[in-house]
Amino acid sequence: MKKHVLILCVLSLCLWIISGNVWASPGNLASDSDSTVPAGSAVPQASVASKSAPLDEAQWPAISNAPGMKGSEMDMSSSLDLSANAPSESDKKCAFMPCLKLVDPVDDVYYTVRHHTTVAQVAPKWGVPAAVIMALNPGLTLESKLEPGQKLLADARLPSGPEPYSRGKTNRGRISNARPMPEGEGYFLRTAHPNSWGTDNTIRALMTMFAAYHEKYPDGPEVNMGDISRRRGGRLRPHKSHQAGRDVDFGFVHTVKNESRHPESFIRADDTNLDIEKTWYLIESLIRTGEVKVVYVDIRVQKMLYQYAAPKLTPEQKEVLFSVPRRETSSAAIFQHWPGHRNHFHVRFRCPAGQLTCRE
Ligand SMILES: [Zn+2]
Repeated sequence: MKKHVLILCVLSLCLWIISGNVWASPGNLASDSDSTVPAGSAVPQASVASKSAPLDEAQWPAISNAPGMKGSEMDMSSSLDLSANAPSESDKKCAFMPCLKLVDPVDDVYYTVRHHTTVAQVAPKWGVPAAVIMALNPGLTLESKLEPGQKLLADARLPSGPEPYSRGKTNRGRISNARPMPEGEGYFLRTAHPNSWGTDNTIRALMTMFAAYHEKYPDGPEVNMGDISRRRGGRLRPHKSHQAGRDVDFGFVHTVKNESRHPESFIRADDTNLDIEKTWYLIESLIRTGEVKVVYVDIRVQKMLYQYAAPKLTPEQKEVLFSVPRRETSSAAIFQHWPGHRNHFHVRFRCPAGQLTCRE
């Protein structure tokens, strides 16, 4: 009898091991951290069935699709480490850095007149219909003379009003109720800023980035803001994209002043002129808003950023952010090479939540 009991015990132990309980530590359970995977799903079993397969591919699209990290090449220890620290959705969106809270939008946006001009002349430069400027600034007519330094209301909206709506792809899209980028500290809009209109998440993420930059470097150089989109989106020459309020160009932070004839043009980055610390802080702050889909920049600039930032980043942060040093391009990385972007970043933002005709 005792012998039978002993055999039964050994058999049960074997079955228990085979069923995976020994290998499936609590950290492996996708349901611990990801409510989209139902508890008791096949994820823990998968870890037993294939030792080399990533435990939770669905949770780690960026990493499991990353170059050089095919599932079959990942070893068990790294799989376990990753799932033990399985990130929340916001962790992934912020490239595993602490997310920043987006600053509130500005509902009344004033633009400063730079030169002696009139309402009729300044309206197209700001991309605001003259009729709107006159309606927002009572007493003005088309021919009203405007003085440098004078501030005019360029856009006003109620917090309860309709939010900007981005439709289509960025290279074939539109935006309605677009929000203008306000003037602010830490950056400057071009003298004429007809193309500074975007979605709420685009504008708020940019404001959040510049607020972080200006707080850390109050005496740092102002960042050169380029185009976002036109007030109603659509084709914006010379760009192919920038059509739906979700693309933006802005310059790097440099150690030298722009001495060219065009002080508002972007400066090409090289080892001698790039302020890598401030440039990294700027772009890191933007990524930490969680709204960035991709950052296009020349591979040479990406390499400089990698060299500076890599020692401070974890392996999974490097995977999500960079394609270098392994390859020049990777569809999984946030930084992507685009020729012609050696003098500025081109950032593409995510579609705003719930905007179903917006295409990423
Ligand atoms: Zn661009």
